This record gives sequence, structure tokens and C-alpha cells, in this order.
Amino acid sequence: MNPKAELEKVAQEASVCTRCKLQHSRKHAVPGEGPVHAEIMFIGEGPGFYENEQGRPFVGAAGKFLDELLSKIGMQRSDVFITNIVKCRPPGNRDPEPEEIQACNDYLERQIQAINPKVIVTLGRFSMARFMPNAKISDVHGQTMNVKGRLIVAMYHPAAALHQRSLQPVVEHDFARLPELIAKADQMPEYSDPSSNGHEEDNGATQLSLF
Ligand code: URA
Repeated sequence: MNPKAELEKVAQEASVCTRCKLQHSRKHAVPGEGPVHAEIMFIGEGPGFYENEQGRPFVGAAGKFLDELLSKIGMQRSDVFITNIVKCRPPGNRDPEPEEIQACNDYLERQIQAINPKVIVTLGRFSMARFMPNAKISDVHGQTMNVKGRLIVAMYHPAAALHQRSLQPVVEHDFARLPELIAKADQMPEYSDPSSNGHEEDNGATQLSLF
């Protein structure tokens, strides 16, 4: 598999996707963006108004805050891959529905396989639930889970921190640990299960660890 070609294929397929009803209100699909060899992948919830207009992830107020959080740890948007759990905007910014998340899962899975990030940061409860189905974000934010040699970290969604100011220092604190987590992921042996179908959620090798 050529990772760059695979990402382009996912973006092309998502732009004309008919797998769920979000196709009807879509102006532009928002497959995600970032370097093919990004060490960190952020997974948000779904495109909002501005993202649907522009076809780019996190370009509204939450995106501006995400940029600020990245700059505080010496990173910029172009260093990371940013995508969402659903690639088309849920109308009125409602929550994505389970069938929509399911319909979009193959795109996300292919992006994860192509990029092979060391660290996946889930932003908000919907992307968290893909990796930690029964977790509560208030309990697990900032904690890491080892899935097949990759670290998964759940964080509050930047939009939540914009609405609830008291979450901002919490989000900043969780972000501040990212450089340390990348270094930690570098030391982890890459786990490769020969019987695996490559699906992240098939995580027999999962450990929730607090470090
Ligand atoms: N919120 C998200 O979860 N994703 C975006 O792309 C923008 C806002």
C-alpha cells in the first residue's frame, strides 16, 4: 500500500460517499489533512459549518484553539494529521449517529493504517468511544492506552473547553504531555499480530495504563 495514494483515495471516496444520510446535507466532505508520516493524529467529532464550507477540518473557533494548544507545545498544524470520526457535517452540528459513525469507520481505519501514527489523540467523547467504548472522558482524559504499539490518548474536545472555561487548563495540561508521549511511543516495540485483520478496535493487546 502506498500511504499517500491511500489517503488520496479515501479523500476521493469520501467526497462522493453515499454510505449514510449525511451525504444529503454535505457541501464538502472533510476527509482530514496533514502529513502522511505524521507522528500524531487527532480525531475530532465531525465537521461543523465552516469545515463543511471549506472541506478542511478544524477551521472554526475550535480549530483556532487547537492551533493555540499546538503552538504552546512547539508544534503547528502542519506537523500533525487532523481528521474526524465522521467526514461529513451532521446538520445543525448535532451529534453523529451510531450508523453514521459505523458507515464512516472504514475511511478512518484506512487513514490510521496509512499514516501509522505513534500517538492518536481523540478529541471529545465520540472519537474516544471508538477506542474506549465504556470510558467517561472526565475519568480517562490525558491517560494513555497502548493499542498494538500505538498510544491512544483521550482529550476533551477544544469546543468543550471554549464553552466551559474551567476545562481550558485541563486541556492545556493534557496537551503539554504530548511531546513526552511521543518520546514514550518511540520506545515501544511495534506490536504486529500476524492473525490480526489490522483493525484497531480488535484490541486483544490493549492495556489501559496511567503514565
Ligand atoms: N469540531 C470537530 O470535531 N471537527 C472539526 O473539524 C471542527 C470542529
